[in-house]
Amino acid sequence: MSGYARALRVLVVGAGVAGISAARGLLRDGHDVTVFERRPDVRAAGGAVTIWSNGDSVLGQLGVDMDGAGRRLASVRAVTSTGRRLATLDVTTMARRLGAPVRMVPRRVLLDRLLDGFPTERIRCNSRVIALAGTGDGVRVDFGDGSTVEGDVLIGADGLHSVVRECVGAQGARPTGWCSWQGLAAVPEVADSDAGLMIIGAHGNLGLWPAGGTDVQWWFDLPWSYDFVRPQRPIELIRSHFSGWSDPVDRVLATLTDDDLARSPFPHFRHPIPRAGRGPVTLLGDAAHTMPPTLAQGTNQALLDTMVLCKALADVRRGTTGRGTDVSRALRWYEKTRRRKVMAVSWMASLPVSHGESVLRPAALISDRVQASALTTFLRVTSHRRMSAQISRNLGVVAKIPSSP
Ligand SMILES: Cc1cc2nc3c(=O)[nH]c(=O)nc-3n(C[C@H](O)[C@H](O)[C@H](O)COP(=O)(O)OP(=O)(O)OC[C@H]3O[C@@H](n4cnc5c(N)ncnc54)[C@H](O)[C@@H]3O)c2cc1C
Repeated sequence: MSGYARALRVLVVGAGVAGISAARGLLRDGHDVTVFERRPDVRAAGGAVTIWSNGDSVLGQLGVDMDGAGRRLASVRAVTSTGRRLATLDVTTMARRLGAPVRMVPRRVLLDRLLDGFPTERIRCNSRVIALAGTGDGVRVDFGDGSTVEGDVLIGADGLHSVVRECVGAQGARPTGWCSWQGLAAVPEVADSDAGLMIIGAHGNLGLWPAGGTDVQWWFDLPWSYDFVRPQRPIELIRSHFSGWSDPVDRVLATLTDDDLARSPFPHFRHPIPRAGRGPVTLLGDAAHTMPPTLAQGTNQALLDTMVLCKALADVRRGTTGRGTDVSRALRWYEKTRRRKVMAVSWMASLPVSHGESVLRPAALISDRVQASALTTFLRVTSHRRMSAQISRNLGVVAKIPSSP
């Protein structure tokens, strides 16, 4: 088929950040989009995520108003568990070079902002996808209640244990051997800051990052394997590892209880990035590339997927893509365009963080400027900068170069 005069019927599986952002972009581009969510409602739980400049730019393209959401970061300080200085990243300068702010945003706030102005009648809750089938030039989705729906395109945005991923035969996720105990806590004296703190030890590491208002995003990373047995009093386990690492850490540990740890730990998984798919089905967000949270890039990568996928399908609709004019080719272009960049990010996110002092000490000799510059370059190179700038220009999105947070 050469170009689609009509809107594509797009079926999105999963109403997480990835699914809603993709649906938002595709609705903006005039497609006929329906989102299917297995849960009875659309609600984000858990702590906060870091929205880096690459993700913030896409949120701008999606018309999501992030003003006042969470807390803008000005710097990130890394030290060893004995208090030895490792680096201080000047995030304000990085953000200026990348053209958009960096902020910590509670997941709940991010999803609320994504849903602001979103036509909620486009989301069908209590719809658990169990199987897919081809229909000639489209796709059929089967639900747990026996109902079915057909569309032109299916986007699997159903997260780490994606059914869509399984249906297309892509390999499942593997644990990395680590996990995060993570959440938000109201600790005003630690939250009242625009600096993130990371402390790295030989057998674990932690972070305390302000997340807006009085909230602090805390995380404690420890080794994990499938034979992990949850302790009766997890707070004692966490305190035994991390007490005494610094004053703010002790203050946060003093406020945490076993209830705060109830949803943790979150084991870190990593997907092998799938090769090009087939037909009208593709993957997006964690379903495509779950990665450890080390670089805090998961959500940002889902937003970049959204940007590239929307471009691919907008080009199909206009019949202007030079890469072929049918849906399947557009999806393959999307997958190919994303693959190498997301592989680089996933690889980087999987490098071990915890090290002993003997390894960390030489790293501390690298100047802050070089470290910040290396990370900025890495984010530039992996974020489709030129495409993003072009899309923002076409949409008339004004770059929000941050002054001081
Ligand atoms: C501890 C931890 C910390 C993190 N920190 C950061 C960070 O700082 N910065 C960052 O950018 N990222 C971070 N991430 C990653 C980030 O959370 C994800 O990359 C991001 O939320 C993308 O999620 P998603 O929408 O792809 O998947 P999900 O949020 O898992 O959403 C998938 C949705 O699909 C639904 N679903 C699943 N199966 C079906 C089915 N069969 N039928 C219908 N619906 C279905 C689910 O109910 C869910 O609503 C972190 C992750 C972890 C675990």
